[in-house]
Amino acid sequence: MKNDFSMEYKKWLHIAGNIAGCPQGAKMAVCPHCATYHVGFQYFGDPDSRMGFLRVWCNNCLYGIVVSRVAIPPDAPMHSWRDPMPEGLVPEYFIVEPC
Ligand SMILES: [Zn+2]
Repeated sequence: MKNDFSMEYKKWLHIAGNIAGCPQGAKMAVCPHCATYHVGFQYFGDPDSRMGFLRVWCNNCLYGIVVSRVAIPPDAPMHSWRDPMPEGLVPEYFIVEPC
């Protein structure tokens, strides 16, 4: 049985795919939850392999997703998971799940 978030989750995944293709393009993304242009993202991963995960969220409504096991594009900003998490790097947000 599908819940209310399945459609929204797909839209978030689409944005995540666009970020992977063009990290600078996130500014142009429309939030699937509140339809404003406040989408932020942050990659976390291993600086050598550049494998990790991607957090995508909206700074206006604080909804978003986490995408695990992604290849981090060479030109994308990445936070090494060896380093302590800087305060305020990612806000607390509601994680939309596919089901
Ligand atoms: Zn939003």
